[in-house]
Amino acid sequence: MNPDSAQTGPKKEGVLYIVATPIGNLDDLSPRAISVISQADVIAAEDTRHTGRLLQHLGLKKTMMAIHDHNERDKAGAVVDKLVSGASIALVSDAGTPLISDPGYVLVRQARQSGVRVVPVPGPCALVAALSAAGLATDRFLFEGFLPAKRGARKAALEDLAGETATLIFYESPHRILETASAISEVMGAGRQVVLARELTKAFETFYSGSAADICDQLAADPYATKGEFVVMVEGAEASAEAHAGLDVDKFLRLLLAELPVKKVAQLGSELTGLAKNDLYQRALTIKNE
Ligand code: SAM
Repeated sequence: MNPDSAQTGPKKEGVLYIVATPIGNLDDLSPRAISVISQADVIAAEDTRHTGRLLQHLGLKKTMMAIHDHNERDKAGAVVDKLVSGASIALVSDAGTPLISDPGYVLVRQARQSGVRVVPVPGPCALVAALSAAGLATDRFLFEGFLPAKRGARKAALEDLAGETATLIFYESPHRILETASAISEVMGAGRQVVLARELTKAFETFYSGSAADICDQLAADPYATKGEFVVMVEGAEASAEAHAGLDVDKFLRLLLAELPVKKVAQLGSELTGLAKNDLYQRALTIKNE
C-alpha cells in the first residue's frame, strides 16, 4: 500500500457537471440536478444572484463563482485548475441547458483538453421543449440561436436560410418578435408555416401557429404578444414547396410577368408560395426571354 494514500486517501477526481435548470417551472429541476448541485464543491453560475434564488428555493448555501460571456475566457483557466486539483464544479446558466445560447463553451473545451471529466446532467432546454410540441418536422432541424439584432443583417441571415429544408429554430427576444415575424414573411414567403412558443412551462405558455402572414396578424392582435420569451420555428423549404406541389409555377409566373418586372415577380412569388426567390427569379427570366 502506498503510505501517502493511506494517510490522505486516493486523490479525488475533479468533475465538471453541466447542469440544466428550469426555463420557468421549478418542478422541472430533476432530482439528479438537485443532488449534483447539493454535492458540488462550487457552483459556476452565469449570474450568481439569479442562481442564488434557485439555491434559496432548494434550501442550499453553496460557494458560487460567476462565469459569463464577459469573463469566461479569463476565468476558464482558474476553474480548470480547481477541477484538476480535484474539485467538483456544477456549471449552471440562468435558465435551461448551459452552452445552448449561454456561456460555458470555453470552459468545457478547456476542461476536456486538460483531461477533466465533463458530465452532462440533462434537463430543460427551450428549443427542444418548443420543437417537441410544435407539430413541425423534427427529423432534421437547424438551431440558429439568436438572429442578428440589426434589420439588414437579420434579413440577410434569413435570405441565406430561405432554401434550407430542415425545420429552422431561433431564439428571440420579445421586443424584436414582431419585426422577426414580418421579416420571415417577407423573405421566406407569407405562406411559410411558422410556430412561436412563448413562455414555455410558465403560467402564460402560448403557441402561435399558422402561415407567416397569420402569425404577424396573431401577434398584432394579442396585447401580450411582445411580452415573455420566445422560440421561433419555421418549417423547412421543402415542406413549404410540397404544400404548393399542385401549383403550376410557370402559369403562375406568366400571370405575374404580365404585370410586373422579373425581380418583383420573384419576390412576390416567393412570398406567396414559400418557394425560393432565386429559383423563381431564374425561371421567370427564362420565361420572359422565351
Ligand atoms: N440555455 C437556454 C436553453 O437551454 O434553452 C437558452 C438561453 S438563451 C440566453 C434565452 C432564450 O431562450 C430566450 O431569449 C428565449 O428565446 C429562449 N427561452 C428561454 N426560456 C424560454 C421559455 N420559457 N419560453 C420560450 N423561450 C424561452
